[in-house]
Amino acid sequence: MTADCLFCKMVSGQIKPSTVYEDMDVLAFKDINPQAPVHVLVIPKKHIATLNDLDASHAGLTGKLIIAAAHIARESGIAESGYRIVMNCNADAGQSVFHVHLHLLGGRVMRWPPG
Ligand code: AMP
Ligand code: ZN
Repeated sequence: MTADCLFCKMVSGQIKPSTVYEDMDVLAFKDINPQAPVHVLVIPKKHIATLNDLDASHAGLTGKLIIAAAHIARESGIAESGYRIVMNCNADAGQSVFHVHLHLLGGRVMRWPPG
């Protein structure tokens, strides 16, 4: 828990997100500014600022984020039509919240390459 981190406040319950999935290690909630009909953020409960802070000890946890996203995609009915998972790291990618998170986007056709 990092006191001034928005997503840590969601994990602690200080701020109540629109939760769609939770387990021991992972929390998932609707993005407040959705970029697709389904736009869910999947985060580790543990504070990790960016992808650059990951090491081998986080292998299981990062796998859990993707497995949770695939589960939520199935539950949201977009598994067959398709979806995209995005993780932004630092300024050039537009990371705005410095607690690692995965974006699950679906329910519309995605363009490639991304902007
Ligand atoms: P990123 O730009 O990859 O760091 O993504 C951060 C995401 O957090 C953005 O898509 C925001 O819309 C989203 N976000 C910011 N504040 C909140 C909030 N209070 N509840 C849900 N999502 C949020
Ligand atoms: Zn945090």
